[in-house]
Amino acid sequence: MSDVRVRFAPSPTGQIHIGNIRTALFNYLFAKKNNGTFILRIEDTDRERSTSEFEEVIHREMDWLGLEWDEGVKVGGNHGPYRQMERLDIYQEYVEQLLDKGLAYYCYCTTEELDEMREEQRQKGQPPRYTGKCRCLGQDERDKLEAEGRRPVVRFKVPDEEKELIVDDLIRGRVSFSSEVIDDFVIVKSDGIPTYNFAVVVDDYLMKISHVIRGEDHLSNTPKQQLLYEALGWEAPNFAHLSMILGTDKSKLSKRSGEAYVYVSEYRKKGYLPEALINFLSLLGWSPEDEEEILSKEDIIKQFSIERVNKSAAVFDVEKLNWM
Ligand code: GLU
Repeated sequence: MSDVRVRFAPSPTGQIHIGNIRTALFNYLFAKKNNGTFILRIEDTDRERSTSEFEEVIHREMDWLGLEWDEGVKVGGNHGPYRQMERLDIYQEYVEQLLDKGLAYYCYCTTEELDEMREEQRQKGQPPRYTGKCRCLGQDERDKLEAEGRRPVVRFKVPDEEKELIVDDLIRGRVSFSSEVIDDFVIVKSDGIPTYNFAVVVDDYLMKISHVIRGEDHLSNTPKQQLLYEALGWEAPNFAHLSMILGTDKSKLSKRSGEAYVYVSEYRKKGYLPEALINFLSLLGWSPEDEEEILSKEDIIKQFSIERVNKSAAVFDVEKLNWM
């Protein structure tokens, strides 16, 4: 095995759609091509929306497509995937590190207070951001607020100095963000459960992920994650953000465009072969050097490279699948 370690990290909050499974596939192909390790991590910290049924669907569709993962938690003689809700103690340890170093703080602001804060800023023509009101609360003030029955969240203290935050993306190149657009974001919710941005950093670090390959909807989270890596004294992995998948009319793919074709389960039910779907999905944003369109899984693995993943949106044309 090489040092290449990648992960597919779905949230079991809905039916798995082709955007998710393309992310899984590209991670899998990259791992196979580089003799690396492919990890499945279930990001189930959204307690209201995550269900075991949705997780089962993820397993079923990945099994059907033959996207086996290489490493996970030992359950009997097998390996189950990592699940974030089984790792809460681990996140807690790192939250405490940040709190001890003064790089994170408890915030007691209520939703109403936050709304008021935003409204005031809006009226002044400023972008709505958390003002850092609770940054310097002393123990006495905290005790008082807790006695009122308030449960705090933990916020990350975003460094004050204004600077350019650069994401060197393997697909999109250099993407720059101003630290001004990032306010002290929440890393632990009031129920003690970490937010996505925090859990993902701790996990990617501890799981020694070398390349984070995920959808471009997460690109704006990446500078936040990079700030967390810096605060924790860790080196960040490489990032590659996959472009959106659009319908043939260039609209965002939704349940309406291409109807049920958005969900992987539909292909299975309609009798498509998994090999054809892998071939079809691999060409959504990637192309082999010789532009060949009919490829076996082995051919795709042999030829796959991040450099040939396109940064412009991929167009989803289900008609193509019919002749694969
Ligand atoms: N759980 C996130 C999602 O399903 C994955 C984010 C990531 O890959 O970092 O969108």
